Amino acid sequence: MLSLASVALFSQLTLQQPQEDKPRNPDGCSFSQVEFTTDFAAGRLHHCEQDKDGEFKLYLKPEKEDINPSPWYAFAVENMADESKTFTITLFANKGISRYKPKRSSIGEDMWHPIPFSEGDGWLKFEVTLPAKEKEIIAGQEIIDNVHYIEWLSSLIKEPERSKVISLGVSSEGRNLAALEHTVTSSNKWLILIGRQHPPEVTGAIALLHFGELLFSDEKYVSDFRKQYNILLVPNMNPDGVYHGNWRLTAAGVDMNRDWKNQTLPETQALAKYLTKLTNDGGRIEFAIDFHSTHRNVFYTIPKDYEPSSGVPLRNPQRVYNWIEEIAEMVDSVELEYQPGAHPDSGVFKQFITDKFAAHAVTYEVSDSEDRDNIKRVAEAALISLINRLN
Ligand SMILES: [Zn+2]
Repeated sequence: MLSLASVALFSQLTLQQPQEDKPRNPDGCSFSQVEFTTDFAAGRLHHCEQDKDGEFKLYLKPEKEDINPSPWYAFAVENMADESKTFTITLFANKGISRYKPKRSSIGEDMWHPIPFSEGDGWLKFEVTLPAKEKEIIAGQEIIDNVHYIEWLSSLIKEPERSKVISLGVSSEGRNLAALEHTVTSSNKWLILIGRQHPPEVTGAIALLHFGELLFSDEKYVSDFRKQYNILLVPNMNPDGVYHGNWRLTAAGVDMNRDWKNQTLPETQALAKYLTKLTNDGGRIEFAIDFHSTHRNVFYTIPKDYEPSSGVPLRNPQRVYNWIEEIAEMVDSVELEYQPGAHPDSGVFKQFITDKFAAHAVTYEVSDSEDRDNIKRVAEAALISLINRLN
């Protein structure tokens, strides 16, 4: 059994940050009336300027020029005055500023509220009213940080004899790649679930949380499934990127979902090593899902007639299509698409799983702006339908 002591130890290890790596506040963001700070996990803002009285310009920059334009931002805004104030904030980014719409949350609260905004070419503008000396968080999506994942994985352990939290290895900055490993002796079949290769893709992260929550719940059909299936759940493949509020890359400056062919990163190497060992030991990967976000709900699949580069035929080529069709029927009010495609040199995870293990893998993309209740409905339908098809 994973004792409380070992959970605590694991959390301490995971949360430990290299000294030089403490989150920093951005340049020029402290004013007499207001302070903008980012000294928390996932905090991100490049620099600030005061415009007119009570009006501020906040600039967003990626970790590397010319990457996928997904301007992530997360900062605290604090009213330094002795009276209530309204601040006008304009965010600037070279490209893609409209991808993430502003949301606010009180400190210590878990609720996020959309902020009305206007936008134009390269800018997005909104107002924040704060009582005297009050502070709140503003971000492009809900903040789900590394601490949250560790606590969440630990909370899913219902059958300590079969499930445990493990670390697959460490990221390039030394953060653990935490995973829930669920093993049974009655079967060699595995379901592999990963998420957060791209840090700001939070709607995909939310879908994974709902999927995992139901998968490790007490519902009879899932606990029956757990008796017959091995599961590896790695919700946060890029803890460095999540910590730094990166737009896309790992701390090594690499797009992880282009690295699965060559495996230059410690993160891809760690999971690939685990999966290779698992199959060498007689395990069989039946299905893998990689959760992401984009501007629409879409399942990227492998074509039915695809021939994996290993030469081993793709197992159950039709299963994924039946699965997606059933999900679409179960949640017919939500628009879902699917798009088969094979890109053997792309280095994406789904391709790696198919080429190396002859198993079907899906990139499960959730719309950035999807209604949060719909994300849950689709994730739960996806799990229910998948269980029926994997049995
Ligand atoms: Zn992505």
